[in-house]
Amino acid sequence: MNLPAHPLRSFGAWEGSPQKPLVIAGPCSAESLEQVLETARALKAEGHTQLFRAGVWKPRTRPGQFEGAGYDALSWLQTMRQEVGLPFVIEVANASHVEKALEVHADAVWIGARTTVNPFYVQEIAEALKGTGIPILVKNPIHADLGLWLGAFERLEKMGLTDLAAVHRGFFSSYSAPYRNEPKWEMSFELRRQAPNLPIICDPSHIAGQRDLIEQVAQVAMDIQMDGLMVEVHPTPTEALSDAAQQITPLRLGQLLITLEANAPKNLALQEAIDQEREKLDQVDQHMVELLRSRMDIVHALGEMKAQHGASIFQMERWFDLLQKRGSQAEELQLNKAFVEELFQLIHKYSVEHQMGVYTASRKQREE
Ligand code: PEP
Ligand code: MN
Repeated sequence: MNLPAHPLRSFGAWEGSPQKPLVIAGPCSAESLEQVLETARALKAEGHTQLFRAGVWKPRTRPGQFEGAGYDALSWLQTMRQEVGLPFVIEVANASHVEKALEVHADAVWIGARTTVNPFYVQEIAEALKGTGIPILVKNPIHADLGLWLGAFERLEKMGLTDLAAVHRGFFSSYSAPYRNEPKWEMSFELRRQAPNLPIICDPSHIAGQRDLIEQVAQVAMDIQMDGLMVEVHPTPTEALSDAAQQITPLRLGQLLITLEANAPKNLALQEAIDQEREKLDQVDQHMVELLRSRMDIVHALGEMKAQHGASIFQMERWFDLLQKRGSQAEELQLNKAFVEELFQLIHKYSVEHQMGVYTASRKQREE
């Protein structure tokens, strides 16, 4: 992906530092004008929130649950922006949602986890947003398929939409406990590797699923240098019409962000200590690769000898002997024997492969 650096600059204060994450907060769903205004005023007073979130059309797993206030909620959000002064982001799941979002000049939109899974919907949304330049957040797909997540960004980018950010909200899994969704942090590491300029925002609310776990998830997100947080906030969380268990009050969000800020210098000191140890690891790793090079030189020379004399490459006894020796050495040095054996299986596999190459080359030479 070929994105400009730091596309979320549209929101001003995004600096991508652990001390200053981009903060997106607001209720899971916009429920009434009063609830929207009360939440937004409290967030504005608390001072960290840069973008107000609220679900207008709610994708519910089962019918009969609160499905959002729909079009009415759009006017509440416009009123909120005028009276409180916070820009807002809403979820869009099809072209008609996009049309309505654009009509009310939503400041940004997000594509939800249940939509990212479906390339037809993502394509439809991308086409409907074409030419707008609006900032778009894309939540990870429900299940851990990085291709679908990346694919959504590619579809948007193809329509000229480059003000993009990812939202990591965890993945459906039977092993998600104690969380609602399994974090699978490695997925965002891989996203970071494949799209280095894409900001990644963590949604600790949908990962945690219960308010008492939000702090620890948010702390991990900051420790791994995610660029922001999207948190569900409600003035009376237990009475929320959707996701009541995971919403927190604006006050608690303020406390959470202060704790994160206070932890940041501690984390910097820790990071320095970690970096120092990693330098040592790098040296050992470098040495290991050099040793592998020397080992392969011997393997090569052996391969030539075997080829010249037509000896077979794979000698079972030698292999068992090697495994036995290294296994016992591992035990003596209190290393996991299975780990060392597995490592040598891999080394052996590539050594045999290398010698086969030597064999084939030498046979060709003799035939010429
Ligand atoms: C939400 O943010 O309220 C929401 C529905 O999220 P997700 O798509 O991550 O489930
Ligand atoms: Mn929600």
